[in-house]
Amino acid sequence: AKAEGRNRCQYFTAEMSSSTRRRVEIGNALRYAIRNAELSLHYQPRASLDGGGMAGMEALLRWDARLLGRIAPSEFIPLAEQNGLILRIGQWVLNQACRQAQAWRQRLGVALPIAVNLSARQFHDADLVRAVEAALQASGLPPRLLELELTESMLMHDAKRTARTLAALKAIGVRLAVDDFGTGYSSLSYLKSFPLDYLKIDRSFVSGLPEDRNDGAIVRAIIAMAHTLGLKVIAEGVETAGQLDFLRAQRCDEVQGYFFSRPLPAPEMEAWLSRPEAE
Ligand code: C2E
Ligand code: CA
Ligand code: CA
Ligand code: CA
Repeated sequence: AKAEGRNRCQYFTAEMSSSTRRRVEIGNALRYAIRNAELSLHYQPRASLDGGGMAGMEALLRWDARLLGRIAPSEFIPLAEQNGLILRIGQWVLNQACRQAQAWRQRLGVALPIAVNLSARQFHDADLVRAVEAALQASGLPPRLLELELTESMLMHDAKRTARTLAALKAIGVRLAVDDFGTGYSSLSYLKSFPLDYLKIDRSFVSGLPEDRNDGAIVRAIIAMAHTLGLKVIAEGVETAGQLDFLRAQRCDEVQGYFFSRPLPAPEMEAWLSRPEAE
């Protein structure tokens, strides 16, 4: 089925709506994205709230399609999930992120963890653990400097299998983060049974801070719960000083967002890492 999804090209018909046509166009163009070197990674730094230094960075995929221009990941990743291309794209992201982090480590002497987003299909793929090991081995990046971001819904499927996969990943030595925390399933039982390291509070709870009392209560509760469970907390989408102050007061561990920096192309990230105060 994998090979089929990969090779089958779809054709337009007169009845297709414009949104369907766009999906078909993107799906077809995506097949050539890796080969044509149209994919790149941007890097968004995150800051530690005790000390204020850089705590790590997240690799975010960018696609500049030859004919269609820049296409947002929110548009093409769901399509890549459907047609199976996400497995090859995901492997490319893992390899590229590890290679880049290791290059910066060696050239600039900054040993910052790099976070990579995993898609559901990648997470459930039988070859995931091998794929992660391959990326680490090929790059030489120490496993503790790789973080994998998973979403709640990925963890909720088959608890036994998920536990096995997470244990295998932890055995390699990588760190595990739950992305978009609070937006998925409401079950929290997995938090105590799985070997996780980070919760990333979704931007939707951060955006109302500090005024919105409901958002404030939720963020406070998430931080308290995470700390009780021995997890560190990263707040996503931090855009203002007011949000930062609230999060600091609540003992959130790390922050990521436009207030600190937008996701940057590799050369700009490298310039940032080269500043004397980066360490
Ligand atoms: P995400 O993992 O939750 O990533 C955070 C998104 O929020 C990124 O959007 C980032 O650019 C944006 N962002 C960061 N700080 C702020 C802020 O302060 N304000 C606002 N308004 N936005 C902020 P982006 O890069 O468009 O990515 C969207 C989503 O696409 C990601 O959400 C992730 O789910 C997915 N994605 C991106 N790269 C990859 C990848 O390599 N693999 C997979 N499977 N998914 C990816
Ligand atoms: Ca993420
Ligand atoms: Ca997120
Ligand atoms: Ca998200």
